[in-house]
Amino acid sequence: MTRVVVVGVLGRMGQAIVQRISKETGLQLAGGVVERGALGPGKPLSAFMPPPPGGEGLCLLDDLGKCLTDTPTDVVIDFTAPTCTAVHAALCAQAGVGLVVGTTGLGEAEREALKAAAARIPVLWAPNMSIGIQVLGLAVQEMARRLGEGWDIEVLEIHHKRKKDAPSGTALKLAEDAAKALGLGAQHFCTQRSGMIGERPAKEIGLQSLRGGEVIGEHTVYFLGEGERLELRHCAQSREQFAQGALRAARWLHAKPAGFYGMGDVLS
Ligand code: NAD
Repeated sequence: MTRVVVVGVLGRMGQAIVQRISKETGLQLAGGVVERGALGPGKPLSAFMPPPPGGEGLCLLDDLGKCLTDTPTDVVIDFTAPTCTAVHAALCAQAGVGLVVGTTGLGEAEREALKAAAARIPVLWAPNMSIGIQVLGLAVQEMARRLGEGWDIEVLEIHHKRKKDAPSGTALKLAEDAAKALGLGAQHFCTQRSGMIGERPAKEIGLQSLRGGEVIGEHTVYFLGEGERLELRHCAQSREQFAQGALRAARWLHAKPAGFYGMGDVLS
């Protein structure tokens, strides 16, 4: 049995994970952590959401450190914000508990903090936990390789109006997949175009973001050639597949040796 603590448990992804966990075998919800100051400590989960089966009486805390001291935990799942990633990674490393991070918009400092924790505990970070997106990434690599440099690559993503980072972590990952196949780096990424920008540089990989409504997440990778065009598209129709992926990752990570992992490791 893998005992899971969900950080950001009242957020959109936190709620999706809590609702999904009861449908999974071998996983148990051990606790939930909310943003500091969001509530008085010790309130029952049922005060905020219908308790999942087996989750009755479960306590919410606003302190991951205290939660890990009080609650026997195997893996922490964190879908929150980049501002708390480094602190949460250090707390998990100190407690010797595995960490699955789905938060996007991480900068260099946060990634380094995850890697530092990964020297002591297993850490998995994936900007998108869905299986479809993992396969899309492989397809993008293959297509970029086969089509070669004569084709212009653009990544378009659409998300709901409350999303805080742009471009999405998934769009960046897809651009990285294409770049990797072509031997290019992030210096070829273009996230803004406006005014007299001149002709498109040959090796540029464009990333465009639309925001609005309730769109859960759509990503399209365009390969634009002379007289023809290819499009690869992924549309998330619910948060269920992200939650399923995060829980699959948590089950996989439990008892793995210290190291820095991605969803590709889980699926392979
Ligand atoms: P959300 O705003 O609905 O939820 C985030 C929650 O985290 C909020 O409830 C907030 O109060 C809480 N939080 C913030 N700081 C905290 C802290 N220090 N301690 C505890 N809780 C804290 O956002 P969301 O849609 O659930 O997305 C969360 C993150 O996950 C975003 O970065 C988003 O881009 C990412 N995301 C990743 C995937 C994936 O598959 N990897 C899928 C969807 C969303």
